[in-house]
Amino acid sequence: MPRRVAVIMPAMAESCLFCRIVAGEIPAKLVYEDDRALAFRDINPQAPTHVLVIPRRHIATLNDLGEGDRELVGHLAMVGARIAKDLGHDQAGWRAVWNVNADAGQTVFHIHLHVLGGRKLGWPPG
Ligand code: AMP
Ligand code: ZN
Repeated sequence: MPRRVAVIMPAMAESCLFCRIVAGEIPAKLVYEDDRALAFRDINPQAPTHVLVIPRRHIATLNDLGEGDRELVGHLAMVGARIAKDLGHDQAGWRAVWNVNADAGQTVFHIHLHVLGGRKLGWPPG
């Protein structure tokens, strides 16, 4: 009988879509990555540029940030700005969005910064 080897995965990595993208289990069109963050094209783009910037570490919503996350959130914002600039949106304009919980329409509970650009974006948002 072959020995069965149990691979213990953290529960969150199994169930969270974006943790699975971080783990390379689900493909994504990456536009940026470093030791703390990943950015990839949204699968259902709402603008010519629609990129999601996420931390590698699982954090469910912005409500769950701790004091120790200040630097990480600043880093995600800077990555978003760099992507917007690299894609040529810095002068015309672009939008950064964090959806939090049901009323804002959050559907994936691993924080992500939406970077939207390439068209005129209405205000107020729907
Ligand atoms: P939110 O509604 O703010 O939680 O945003 C979640 C976003 O994730 C939506 O814009 C989805 O289109 C996007 N999304 C869902 N699944 C994937 C995927 N596999 N790859 C890329 N983006 C995704
Ligand atoms: Zn996650």
